[in-house]
Amino acid sequence: MDSAPTFPASFDAFLGNQAAVEGLRAAIAANRLPHSLIFSGAAGAGKYTLALLLAMTVECQRQPRKLSSSGQPIASFCGSCSNCTRIAGAANLEEQVEAAVLAREELRETDKKETRVLIQPHPDVLILPPDPPQLLIKLGQVRTLIQRAHYLPSEAPRKIFILTSASMMKEAANSLLKVLEEPPDTVLILILAENPGELLPTIRSRCATVRLGALPVEEIEALLAARRPGVPAKQRSLIARLAQGAAGRALAFDLDSYTAARADALIFLRNAAGAQSGNKSGAPSKTAPSSWVGSSGVARGQELDPDHTALFKMTETYRAGADGQQKTTALLRALALLLEDLLLLDSGTPDLLRNTDLRAELDRLSTALPFAWIESASHALDQVHSGLRRNLLRSLSLDAFAAQLTTPA
Ligand SMILES: [Zn+2]
Repeated sequence: MDSAPTFPASFDAFLGNQAAVEGLRAAIAANRLPHSLIFSGAAGAGKYTLALLLAMTVECQRQPRKLSSSGQPIASFCGSCSNCTRIAGAANLEEQVEAAVLAREELRETDKKETRVLIQPHPDVLILPPDPPQLLIKLGQVRTLIQRAHYLPSEAPRKIFILTSASMMKEAANSLLKVLEEPPDTVLILILAENPGELLPTIRSRCATVRLGALPVEEIEALLAARRPGVPAKQRSLIARLAQGAAGRALAFDLDSYTAARADALIFLRNAAGAQSGNKSGAPSKTAPSSWVGSSGVARGQELDPDHTALFKMTETYRAGADGQQKTTALLRALALLLEDLLLLDSGTPDLLRNTDLRAELDRLSTALPFAWIESASHALDQVHSGLRRNLLRSLSLDAFAAQLTTPA
């Protein structure tokens, strides 16, 4: 729909978290950057972009200096030397990983098993993405990191390793810990974590953690106005809320796909609400007109209908196909946002609602669904998430989840 977010040409184009970013640049300028860092923050918060910008700064042949907002010297990158340009070549991580996975598919069966997905934009920069299909960082990847860490850098000052996820196989985490205990002087290890709690406490204690916080809604709206002017203002304002403070997510946000996933998520919730109201003796079903116009073609009459046909017809469409996982992930994300909104309504803070276009329907669902149910649904959703990560039978866990949701609390 719109152009993909562009890679920042300078630190000025990296939005938000100014103090944290300047702190890191000051540390590079003073040559006291820690050997291992964790960047924590939501998906789309800029962890990967910041990791590449810092890698460019550390490795830049010119490393221009600037002054921070408080007058401190901070390091920059030139963007045009051969180190900068090669590292910037890894900006589109998804594309790079896809190419590496395809290359592995071409290998003989015996080699395939031994081959781990690694991205190497520069002889001294190695990127370790979670290895599919389990999407965990595996021992083979960390072994490569360890081997290379013991060589001196060949074309730049440091050997840089970027682990793009905190989800690791146990053996991989244990091996990584050993490098972190005694990192060679020339090594810099960056771990990008949506949830640092996934990392071993012993890994966390050996790294400095930099938290990338959420940007305010207004800042994201301004960014969208500048970078996606083709999107109508009303939609931009909705996207700014749905992106949960993550600039990257806002810039890439596909409102049509989200609305489709959300329409399915609403089927879950309406069925659950139907089951709940069927359970309450003589509880009247609320039939206030909905302001929401979805794309799933769900009739209004189905709202609060405890008949599960629509629900299971819907989960059926998630069973097969190559895009099954993506579709499921989108559904779960939409469901999580809806549940959060219901909790916000329950806690009397409707100003913070994200699905602002669904206010009437959310009010109705919030009346029908008890707080305890919403809490247990959020918990069940977490479990489906971790099941997905381990690539368990996704339709099964989705069906089980559907059954759980429609059981009265
Ligand atoms: Zn440079």
